[in-house]
Amino acid sequence: MGNGLIVAYCAVLLHVNCISIAVALQALKATGLRTGDPRLKECMETLKETLKKTPDGVTLDRQQFKKCVQSNIVLLTQAFRKKFVIPDFQSFTSHIDELYESAKKLHEGQVADYIPQLAKFSPDLWAVSLCTVDGQRHTAGDTKVPFCLQSCVKPLKYAVAVHDYGTEYVHSFIGKEPSGLRFNKLFLNEDDKPHNPMVNAGAIVCTSLIKQSASNAEKFDYAMTFLKNMAGNEYVGFSNATFQSERESGDRNFAIGYYLKEKKCFPEGTDMTSVLDLYFQLCSIEVTCESGSVMAATLANGGICPITGERVLSPEAVRNTLSLMHSCGMYDFSGQFAFHVGLPAKSGVAGGILLVVPNVMGIMCWSPPLDKLGNSVRGIQFCTDLVELFNFHNYDNLRHFSKKHDPRREGGDQRVKSVINLLFAAYTGDISALRRWGNTPVDEAVHFGHHDVVTILQQYLEKYSLPSGGAAGDDKDSAEKSLDSLL
Ligand code: GLU
Repeated sequence: MGNGLIVAYCAVLLHVNCISIAVALQALKATGLRTGDPRLKECMETLKETLKKTPDGVTLDRQQFKKCVQSNIVLLTQAFRKKFVIPDFQSFTSHIDELYESAKKLHEGQVADYIPQLAKFSPDLWAVSLCTVDGQRHTAGDTKVPFCLQSCVKPLKYAVAVHDYGTEYVHSFIGKEPSGLRFNKLFLNEDDKPHNPMVNAGAIVCTSLIKQSASNAEKFDYAMTFLKNMAGNEYVGFSNATFQSERESGDRNFAIGYYLKEKKCFPEGTDMTSVLDLYFQLCSIEVTCESGSVMAATLANGGICPITGERVLSPEAVRNTLSLMHSCGMYDFSGQFAFHVGLPAKSGVAGGILLVVPNVMGIMCWSPPLDKLGNSVRGIQFCTDLVELFNFHNYDNLRHFSKKHDPRREGGDQRVKSVINLLFAAYTGDISALRRWGNTPVDEAVHFGHHDVVTILQQYLEKYSLPSGGAAGDDKDSAEKSLDSLL
């Protein structure tokens, strides 16, 4: 859709020659874009200025509308031509809302209470936000309440370390293997290195790699800037009270720190206690579900923040991070999560789960009650349900028809292509292609509710004593007869 077509689209919408801005913004919202999206800044500013000059302050003529949209025409064209990764965003988000509501009904789990700053959260808090790689946004629940990243920061600081120093250097200090032990165990692998960057020992060593030559204050600022950039400049805060409490109650982490020091796990010249300080500070960084979802989306988008277009992390850093989140991100549930959900994720003790659907979207779930393994009860339910409904599991088959939904543009195109191939196979009598389709004519007729067609096919099968396997059966002649009856 060109510039003129968008104008026409809105005009058709109204059957008049002028455009109500409420209707246009409603149409924009339906695509998943937000008016506050940094990529629409010019359009929104021009719109505001133009509306001031109109008599009613709400209606634009064609020329005025054209002037407003042309500064961000590429993005708007993509949006209205349904070229985003989730083309039917409204239908997708209505499913998300259902999953949100279903997990809301769960009341199991315990809110972490080892420090008062975590214990104060209501167990009823529950939020899900998502941001696609095209910057389509959706939120449900308490998505504007700040909470601490806690262990959800581990993959992010690992990504920063790899971005800055490369894989080889970072992994000369830290392993890549699940530990099979509690996240805060005082334990190293056989090379006397932490098992991976998602457990405390690995995350503490990883913290020592952040901007090594800088002062403590600079290191914190440096990490904060990275996190802000990942979040597209949305909310990233710091809870000083949490930091103080974490430090006061952090004996285990101090024990790990001394053990790491003894085993010479840090780069030379590292001051272990200031590394621990930075570790506690990074755990105490706050996000909202909304800003967290943009961070996850930056990981889903190969390191480029979808709403600013800025490259924040190298593709290498992102790929490593996703691999380790996949194998080690969910405490002692990591293997099961990889099996059932099949997506990279990282949870934290505040109840956050940072979930990535690579090349599609980032999701942040947040609800404070945790299960016995330390993962958010509602968050786990949501992730599991999501993958039951949509074919987002890493090993879900995307090419062939399945009962799961595929909300991606690619998937839709693929399905259209297969149907065209099927029709062509039927037209040319390519029985082997029809067999590969898998479903029989009866299956399809049942699936689409064509009851009279089902009756005709069944009568035909009975008349010629054909197996109900029909065209997909082994008997080629029978298959051809069934085919003849269809053509
Ligand atoms: N501050 C916690 C610790 O280091 C983080 C716990 C977590 O989120 O896993 O023990």
